[in-house]
Amino acid sequence: MTVEADQVRVESRLVSGQVVCPDCSGVLRRWGWARPRGVHGLAGMLHPRRARCSACLVTHVLLPVTVLLRRAYAVEVIGAALVARAGGSGHRVIGPTLGVPAATVRGWLRVMGARLETVRTRLLQVAHRAGVDQAVPKTQGSPWRDVLAALGMATEAVTGRFGVFGVLGPVTVWQVAAACSAGRLLSPGWPPRGAGSTGNTSRL
Ligand SMILES: [Zn+2]
Repeated sequence: MTVEADQVRVESRLVSGQVVCPDCSGVLRRWGWARPRGVHGLAGMLHPRRARCSACLVTHVLLPVTVLLRRAYAVEVIGAALVARAGGSGHRVIGPTLGVPAATVRGWLRVMGARLETVRTRLLQVAHRAGVDQAVPKTQGSPWRDVLAALGMATEAVTGRFGVFGVLGPVTVWQVAAACSAGRLLSPGWPPRGAGSTGNTSRL
């Protein structure tokens, strides 16, 4: 599950029982740490907290919104690549510009390229559920730009209504993308199939 970037706040929320299990709404308690790893684009090592639900006993890794699941680059770096792609660049140009191997960028673009419409739909649902009654952004002439427009709308909606989910602190559009996908923006199985109007986005 995804939490704010500020680990001190995460700890204090855990201690005071304010982090809720995404599976059953029980209270999560501290349960050691996940394996530390380096993330390109983030200072220092990423050392995510592990927590266990006091009700259903399931453990969760609390992933900050600055990263995506199983990706070695910060979500801001990945987001910059997606923005460049929307601007018409390919992985051979984007890679060297961002200091990322072109093959890595190609992998990101392939995954996102295959899910542009479902991601766009998901982000618009988030925006709608955040209670903002906005028109769907007009088509930008490219499915990549359409996704960015939807992400902008989701960010505006979420930050406007809740002060960024109420708990996540100041976030960027790419942190919103990480939060909306629970870190799974580029992971298999996201957005979940059939997550239409009945989908549960209460966790964002
Ligand atoms: Zn639970």
